[in-house]
Amino acid sequence: MSQFVFDPPVQPFAPVHGGGAFPVRRILCIGKNYADHVKEMGGDAKTDPPVFFTKPADAVVPSGVVVPYPPGTDDLHFEGELVVALHRGGRDLKTREEAGALIFGTACGCDLTRRDLQAAAKKRGAPWDTAKAFDSSAPIGPIGRSTEFPPRDARLVTRVNGDIRQDAMLSTMIWTVPEVICALSGLFELRAGDLIFMGTPAGVGALNPGDHVEVAIGDLPKLSFSIGRQA
Ligand code: MN
Repeated sequence: MSQFVFDPPVQPFAPVHGGGAFPVRRILCIGKNYADHVKEMGGDAKTDPPVFFTKPADAVVPSGVVVPYPPGTDDLHFEGELVVALHRGGRDLKTREEAGALIFGTACGCDLTRRDLQAAAKKRGAPWDTAKAFDSSAPIGPIGRSTEFPPRDARLVTRVNGDIRQDAMLSTMIWTVPEVICALSGLFELRAGDLIFMGTPAGVGALNPGDHVEVAIGDLPKLSFSIGRQA
């Protein structure tokens, strides 16, 4: 008989392109990883380096769903991002080769953000959790299997209601995928099932109920979702 005093939560997962489910252990995110986005937020990448934050594993939502407009905000923003999925773990990784050995595949993601709560948190020097780690805050498209690093010349394009809002080369990321994996592995023990949201380029903006978001990166399967009424 189980010792659990109630049924444990269902394992969150992200669909894999071509079949199968990627069990999500944790969601690690990098902010301020594109200079033009740091600039549009009023900062300077030279003096304001990238930062890490997290979302709970059960914040993932698959492509093709309606994401309810979250409570507690009047300024929900989209952030189109590359997502890296790990099928192996490690600690204190130092080299590109060591980092590459962890990669299961990559996907298109969206780091949904309560921008008003983030601005208030920044002002107070308070944590970002309510701005970033809310329910359904991590839509992710089907994971494309590839043990290679994503091509640096691939474009990340975010469309809202068909209009292009973000368009950037992955090569404009400040910290590269292997650099981020190595840095994270010095702060956390990385494990199979970890997802890494790699940060967003310029062009972020507000979403309203009824809006349709599409994130495309190179030839990866697209992420697409709509915003619904407040939950
Ligand atoms: Mn982000």
